[in-house]
Amino acid sequence: MNENLNPDKTNFSSEELDVEKKLRPLTFSDFTGQEQVLENLKIFVEAANLRDEALDHTLFHGPPGLGKTTLAHILSNELNVGIKITSGPVLDKPGDLAGLLTNLSERDVLFIDEIHRLSPIVEEYLYSAMEDYRIDIMIESGPNARTVQIDLEPFTLIGATTRSGLLTAPMRARFGISSRLQYYNTELLTTIVQRSATILKVPTSMEAAIEIAGRSRGTPRIANALLRRVRDFAQIKGDGTITIEIAKYALNALNVDAHGLDEMDNKILTTIIDKFKGGPVGISTLSTAVGENSETIEEVYEPFLIQEGFIMRTPRGREVTHLAYKHLGKVKGESQGE
Ligand code: ADP
Repeated sequence: MNENLNPDKTNFSSEELDVEKKLRPLTFSDFTGQEQVLENLKIFVEAANLRDEALDHTLFHGPPGLGKTTLAHILSNELNVGIKITSGPVLDKPGDLAGLLTNLSERDVLFIDEIHRLSPIVEEYLYSAMEDYRIDIMIESGPNARTVQIDLEPFTLIGATTRSGLLTAPMRARFGISSRLQYYNTELLTTIVQRSATILKVPTSMEAAIEIAGRSRGTPRIANALLRRVRDFAQIKGDGTITIEIAKYALNALNVDAHGLDEMDNKILTTIIDKFKGGPVGISTLSTAVGENSETIEEVYEPFLIQEGFIMRTPRGREVTHLAYKHLGKVKGESQGE
């Protein structure tokens, strides 16, 4: 995958993370799309504020780059409380978690990204914290070792995951609110591109904003990343303004195709057609054939390809649709695998 387009922020440089922060909406009114999710959250926040209680524990799930972290920040702003941020793989000992929990003030938010990657022991530790606002801490060691119970301030745990299927049932049951984020349509992404262009102070024509939005795989993080790359082209090849010509030129140079599919999307479709006669093919076989791990295929690539109608999931595996043949200019039955 083209590094510019990877919606997975783990590859981001610190500069890119800074820009991402700058572009992040801070309030409900700043946030575009996910209407149903937002409507409900507004009610829950208003009710929690009225009662002066902590918001129920909240889970956001969906593919990377759709706004899970952003919503966690927005919730803490709208609740007018502090937020502490961590992630599943970082919290490897119960002691790390205890440190965070005991430092939370009343109604604060604790955000755990990639919550499906918590170790079982940390996860178990979290249960009593979430349920009773109480944790056991082990003091001393050896024969004098004993546990003491510590009361926590009422707090809100916000979890984010790209793989809600990997969450354990007891974990899932402890979230009072659970919202799935959807891919964004071109209209919403156009609004997001225009907003980001204004923040970055880069003049962008409406047509160009639509072009960038349409090629962003339904993902705000990609839309923002493309906007920044196109801005580079506008500065070097033009006068700094993002026109439709500059946008098209840059997006082609970045290998982003007209449907917003990137190299790996296209590789997946081509492989299913050429090597597996259009499918069905199992995920592990496909993953070996394209050289990408199967989790990434399932989390990042497949949901979009399915939503856009390029792939179907059948009981026997993945199959491409006629749209995929059309997109790649291939004819059914003429694949190399015949
Ligand atoms: P996730 O946590 O789901 O991977 P993030 O919340 O980090 O995604 O979002 C990635 C970037 O996309 C953010 O920096 C933000 O600028 C932008 N973004 C996400 N959702 C929206 C939105 N609805 N409106 C405007 N910008 C958004």
